[in-house]
Amino acid sequence: MKARKRFGQHFLTDASVLARTLDCIGPRPTDRLLEIGPGRGALTELLHGTAERFVAIEIDRDLAPMLRARFPGLELVVADVLKFEFTALGTDAPWRIAGNLPYNISTPLLVRLLTSNLLIEDMHFMLQKELADRVDGEPGTKAWGRLSVLVQYHCTVETLFDVEPSSFVPPPKVRSSMVRLTPRAEKPPLTYPARLDTVLRTAFSARRKRLANALKSLPVDWDRAGVDKNSRPDQLSVRDYVRIANAIEYPVSAEGAVR
Ligand code: SAM
Repeated sequence: MKARKRFGQHFLTDASVLARTLDCIGPRPTDRLLEIGPGRGALTELLHGTAERFVAIEIDRDLAPMLRARFPGLELVVADVLKFEFTALGTDAPWRIAGNLPYNISTPLLVRLLTSNLLIEDMHFMLQKELADRVDGEPGTKAWGRLSVLVQYHCTVETLFDVEPSSFVPPPKVRSSMVRLTPRAEKPPLTYPARLDTVLRTAFSARRKRLANALKSLPVDWDRAGVDKNSRPDQLSVRDYVRIANAIEYPVSAEGAVR
């Protein structure tokens, strides 16, 4: 069966990369595992039988008969993960999520997972290296942006290893990296959680401007925020952005019902 470009299909065929991935995940018999995009089942095969529950979400219905036949007990959901209601999996125990993600949906998927009410223990994802560098970026660098702040607000990030295009069939044009995201037990409180993303989108759409100018459409009380409004969006830490989000004077009309 031909790999489908529109589903971002690049199948892992490198046994050493798969073994390393399994080693990093370290599944346990009591785990609830969720795999996103099992494809032809390269990672699924290694995870199958290791956990108490194993759910996989795959959009390509043509792969379903083979996955069902090969992996009895796998709870296969044939669906678009971007439309999947994660809390349908239950919210009583945490999930461990893994996947060699289709690159075209990695960013919206990460945002959806981070803002869902699903309890998550950790996530191991193969990402395009450039995206992994952003997720694991630092303030003051080119890689630092909306996704860096959003992910690092919710999770600690570890880049585990890089993977060459030759490890996949067909090979992608770019290098990949395996990352581990672990939700933080403690996060600085946000008065209105959705406002963090409003601030980030607005700030990073004008990343070369000074903050006061980049965020002029938002009613920020700069004294309350305690952040230098002459700095530039890419110089601020996660905590700075939380302070700004919490210092927006209610209401923000453009935000509509986001509160
Ligand atoms: N896990 C397999 C592997 O490593 O060989 C496949 C990885 S491939 C990069 C991405 C997989 O995600 C494909 O099987 C693709 O069909 C699936 N996929 C793409 N978009 C999806 C979506 N929106 N929802 C669920 N699965 C999706």
